[in-house]
Amino acid sequence: MIVVLLGPPGAGKGTQAQKIEKTQGLVQLSTGDMLRAAVTEGSKVGKKAKDFMEAGKLVTDEIVVKIIENRIQKVDCKNGFLLDGFPRTLTQAKALDNMLNQKSLKLNAVVEMQVDDEALVDRIIGRYTCTACNQGYHGENLKPKVDGVCDNCGSTNFKRRVDDNRETVSSRLEAYHSQTAPLLPYYKEQGVLRVVNGMVDIGDVSVQINDVLSSLN
Ligand code: ADP
Ligand code: ADP
Ligand code: ZN
Repeated sequence: MIVVLLGPPGAGKGTQAQKIEKTQGLVQLSTGDMLRAAVTEGSKVGKKAKDFMEAGKLVTDEIVVKIIENRIQKVDCKNGFLLDGFPRTLTQAKALDNMLNQKSLKLNAVVEMQVDDEALVDRIIGRYTCTACNQGYHGENLKPKVDGVCDNCGSTNFKRRVDDNRETVSSRLEAYHSQTAPLLPYYKEQGVLRVVNGMVDIGDVSVQINDVLSSLN
């Protein structure tokens, strides 16, 4: 099964992808996580991507398409994967269609997570993750069960993203509305678009996504 989670920054894509990875065994492919790893490593790709990311702008299609092209060749993608944060432009969507066509694969669903812009700002400002395992949390909405200890791995180290600040949020939202939202009619036309309400509790969003996924089996 090949599924895209589509939604603005802070919509809950990563949160839901981590859950689906655990429950359905579908590997999560987050271009944001891969790019941040490249920046930390200081690789050539990381050096090219860093300034765009910190400014809240999309990195070039060429970079992310190459990353995904390489990633989906890996053996853990054999039984399907869940794309989180890719595609984000029409060029990327078309490149994905070509990649899948070449492998005689098809996109089963594009799940649009709808969240109001005002809610996104609070979600992004409160977001943090475990340094050791990347489990996502939120200062108000999703705290670890034991204060300061990761539920998933027991680590006590957490981090915040450098781009999760008020200044970059507006530029990221603007990038979503101008560059990513055009994918909605594109996928609607292909008959794969499914819409979920992302304004409800994390568990209630999961229920809606699981319903979509089980309708595909
Ligand atoms: P995205 O990957 O779409 O940018 P995240 O999954 O990282 O978004 O979620 C952004 C923040 O909002 C995280 O801190 C997460 O814990 C929190 N969050 C995710 N889903 C919900 C929800 N349904 N209700 C409230 N907070 C949420
Ligand atoms: P969020 O879901 O909060 O927007 P991500 O972790 O998905 O965050 O992405 C962080 C940043 O990485 C983006 O603002 C952008 O600079 C870059 N990025 C991630 N995925 C893509 C993509 N598919 N195309 C272009 N830039 C991307
Ligand atoms: Zn952890």
